[in-house]
Amino acid sequence: MKNVALFGATGSIGRSTLDVLSHYPERFRVFALTAHSRIPELVEACKRFRPRIALIARESLKSALSQALLEEGLAEVEVWAGTEDMARLAALPEVDIDVLAIVGAAGLVPTFAAAKAGKRLLLANKESVVCGGALLMQTIAQTGAELLPVDSEHNAIFQCLSGESAKDREAARLILTASGGPFRRRYDLEDVTPQDACAHPTWHMGQKISVDSATLMNKGLEVIEASWLFNFPADRIDVVVHPQSLIHSMVQFADGCIIAQMGSADMRTPIAYSLGWPERLDGFAARVDFPAIAQVTFEAPDTERFPQLSYAYEALKQGGCATIVLNAANEVAVDAFLKQKIKFTDIARTCRTMMDSLSLPAPSGLSDIFEADRLARAKTSEVIARCSR
Ligand code: NAD
Ligand code: MG
Repeated sequence: MKNVALFGATGSIGRSTLDVLSHYPERFRVFALTAHSRIPELVEACKRFRPRIALIARESLKSALSQALLEEGLAEVEVWAGTEDMARLAALPEVDIDVLAIVGAAGLVPTFAAAKAGKRLLLANKESVVCGGALLMQTIAQTGAELLPVDSEHNAIFQCLSGESAKDREAARLILTASGGPFRRRYDLEDVTPQDACAHPTWHMGQKISVDSATLMNKGLEVIEASWLFNFPADRIDVVVHPQSLIHSMVQFADGCIIAQMGSADMRTPIAYSLGWPERLDGFAARVDFPAIAQVTFEAPDTERFPQLSYAYEALKQGGCATIVLNAANEVAVDAFLKQKIKFTDIARTCRTMMDSLSLPAPSGLSDIFEADRLARAKTSEVIARCSR
């Protein structure tokens, strides 16, 4: 029986994880659930899974959560709150598996705490790898933590590389697939609304990653994520648009052979793979119906309309704090777009401005990463306030 702490239980990945866990009560115990601020959803999940601990990230909501749990007859659930408690929870000796399904750089704290404590990390939170990749991989190597990527592309690559020698990995190329997002065939992007941007053609996800998919920033973040997770330089990572989302990513070896991982577009598959690894659990996603798909197509990504993909390559090659600055600028700009303070096309403009105006030395520890993130966010907010005035 493995105890699971699920960070970001109320989100899209969080709910899919709970769905998978509900099928395996004899293998996994939902030990702790966390949410940012949505008490009703968190309490609902507590009613269903009866965890030992419920954690609310926004500290001021602690007593409201206690009260809500009490009203539901769940007085036995311990209530924790805030960032320090998130770190304490991720490292708790009783926890065997930490599922990191928080969105944004806020995921850094529990991700690093889990890595330092040598846990099995099921990592969906790509922003923590984008910001702290070097330090995270170093920490994992030191503590013997097990990192299993949940992001579908990285889970695919993990599967494609398994059993390959270090020499063959060193000569290989990664090929990340991208659906192309909702605007693959839309050329006028000035008047895109948040609703248009969140209507993803093949995946149902949280708002932030949906907007990132529409700008192709998501694929850019994934290139950076892949570079750290699998130790591949930027010039051995390609992106190809594949609108059917059947192939989740591929690896090409020196002999020209390509291994691809396929399946229906359902995040429960990589979640179940990571939970069960090295065994495969029974899957719940619809089986692929090849005749119904009929055609699979590929095209090059359009970096004229979606320049943020190029910015990610640029930041990765630049090193230092460039990926932290790009990530922070993007998070702040996407939030402003969702609140209708800036246009869709201003997201890329804001990222460009920040990359050109803020250069910081390479972080030497976690506190440098937080400081760079804080600084980049503050400056991005200033840039946005100036341009939306
Ligand atoms: P979401 O917005 O649906 O859920 C986010 C979760 O994080 C919620 O439970 C929320 O309460 C919590 N959260 C938000 N801000 C927080 C904060 N400051 N402190 C603590 N908790 C906070 O997001 P999602 O779509 O589930 O994505 C989660 C992560 O997984 C992201 O990094 C995303 O890029 C990655 N991912 C998602 C998908 C997908 O299909 N949704 C696929 C691959 C990767
Ligand atoms: Mg992905």
